[in-house]
Amino acid sequence: MIKVLIAEDNAVNRELLRELLELRGYSVLEACDGQEALQMVEQSRPEMLLLDIGMPVMDGFAVIQRIRENPRLATLPVVAVTAYAMRGDQERILSCGFDGYLSKPVNVSSLAQELDRILAKDSQAVNRGQDHEEQPAKKAGAVGGTASATEINPFGST
Ligand code: MN
Repeated sequence: MIKVLIAEDNAVNRELLRELLELRGYSVLEACDGQEALQMVEQSRPEMLLLDIGMPVMDGFAVIQRIRENPRLATLPVVAVTAYAMRGDQERILSCGFDGYLSKPVNVSSLAQELDRILAKDSQAVNRGQDHEEQPAKKAGAVGGTASATEINPFGST
């Protein structure tokens, strides 16, 4: 069964995501803040991470940065789940190393679409084998002078 980690500080959102994922047949793990998410990614090795941006202790931007910097975790598919809805936010989020983006409130069909797209892409990458190593470097290069997490986090606790 495919393991998906939900990192989200809001219990209601977490529960909603859990239900949607379990309905789709995924096995679900939960983390309530960014630090816990990082620990669980290391310890439980989920196949995918749904990562809220606004979280206490460590926000989603800090989490994705640490994941992409860590050679053991760098290829983990990570989808941002966020209420940011302004023009350009999606591009910004993708430039930080996320593989996808879901806006809150998450609806069933966009979640399903995104998971199918990313897991399909991931298994193709595994089948191809080789080019895993290059990806983090490319992504890090693409980030360049991107604004810091605090600058692009105008909504505090979303
Ligand atoms: Mn949040």
